Amino acid sequence: MMGRQAAAQNELFYEFNLEQHIPANHLLRQIDKFLNFDQIRQHLESFYSHTGRPSVDPELMIRMLIVGYCYGIRSERRLCEEINFNLAYRWFCHLGLEDELPDHSTFSKNRHGRFRESNIFRYVFNTVVQRCIEQGLVKGEGFAIDASLVKADVNRQRAVRGTEVIDWGPTKQQSRPVREYLKALDEDQTIKTKPKSISLTDPTARWTAAKGPAIFAYSTNIMIDVEHSIILDVEATPGFRSDEVQSTKTLLERIETNYQIKPKRLMGDTAYGCADILGYLVNEKNIEPHVPIWEKSKRDDGTYSVTDFVWDEKEDHYLCPSGKLLRRSRRKFKIPRSGITKANTIIYRASKHDCDTCEDKPRCCPNTDHRKIARSIHEAARDVARAINQSDIYINKTFHERKKVEMQFAHMKRNLNFDRLRLRGIKGVSDEFLLIAMAQNLRKMARLCEQPPPTDSIAMPVT
Ligand code: SF4
Repeated sequence: MMGRQAAAQNELFYEFNLEQHIPANHLLRQIDKFLNFDQIRQHLESFYSHTGRPSVDPELMIRMLIVGYCYGIRSERRLCEEINFNLAYRWFCHLGLEDELPDHSTFSKNRHGRFRESNIFRYVFNTVVQRCIEQGLVKGEGFAIDASLVKADVNRQRAVRGTEVIDWGPTKQQSRPVREYLKALDEDQTIKTKPKSISLTDPTARWTAAKGPAIFAYSTNIMIDVEHSIILDVEATPGFRSDEVQSTKTLLERIETNYQIKPKRLMGDTAYGCADILGYLVNEKNIEPHVPIWEKSKRDDGTYSVTDFVWDEKEDHYLCPSGKLLRRSRRKFKIPRSGITKANTIIYRASKHDCDTCEDKPRCCPNTDHRKIARSIHEAARDVARAINQSDIYINKTFHERKKVEMQFAHMKRNLNFDRLRLRGIKGVSDEFLLIAMAQNLRKMARLCEQPPPTDSIAMPVT
């Protein structure tokens, strides 16, 4: 017999306990265990006045944002609606059935005000990473780094050519992203390549065609511990390759300062195999670079490559296949010269006299008077990376472990709906990247901590 639902909405009073309706294994219940809002409140205290009307509880807003980023609810208006109707979301935000939610506009006021001044999102992110370390989810042996482009929140039609002189108008009428951009330009006078196009809405976003059709984008740079793919730090940069690569230093230094962890090896793709980064890893940090190196000197036209020349470290010269020397200088200067070029290389040259009379000249330097070799000042570090590239651990392990960082980006974009930014300016973008990385860590910790990790995977502090 077909049943009919009895009228269930005519009760006047209900006996209802929200706590009893959220299952023990619910994601938000698992996540809640790892958040300590006493610390967060203490951190925020000095940014609130001791008098006046009480503000909306910052804990409530941070909890709401965590729900949004954990479940891929990007719009603040929609987030308020979802929390209004969803019992588990209400429970996580410590809201009763009849409690009012803050208006969606309260978020932007706080995000651009106290939350940004207090750097609260970085603080919360750091406490989550610290908790991951305490749970034994960070081994600290191998880190992997990578960057991914995320579309900026701009209309590509509202842009001008990078070579044009732009009138940004009076300061008072400039938008927040424009003010941030102009301030950063004043502070950083380093000459960078002019972009082809500049967005008038968010000028810090970079016009890039690195991944298909050109877009305005920012890069999220993340460094993970490869044991359980916990994101240890994140840095926002404009979508520009050299900024992405340089963020390696920022991330490593910050992780060491915040958590006293330094990895034994660092994995990355070819972009991180430039001489500058290799020199930094090997000479300054004593970290094994597990990255493919840039080999621009290899020749495919049948002429001698650099590898056909023998380097003599002690005598500071190369020996060519005909047994002649390539030196950095053949003159004695009163004031010794370093000979280091702008590209951080030293040029070693064969003598014109030797090359003119050499039988091998057609196979060595058919189009020039004599042979030249540009040697990076970080060549010793490059040699270390070359040796690692031949090792078993690199061939059998590194390649697979490096993929783990790419999986984080795939998860972020596909599962958490994070394929376009909602905030503008480098500060807003940085907040968004921190929140999404925190959500990923919390989700992972909740899943992994159902089964305790092996005891030998606990991070050891730097000695
Ligand atoms: S051309 Fe010059 S550098 Fe090349 S093999 Fe001959 S002598 Fe050596």
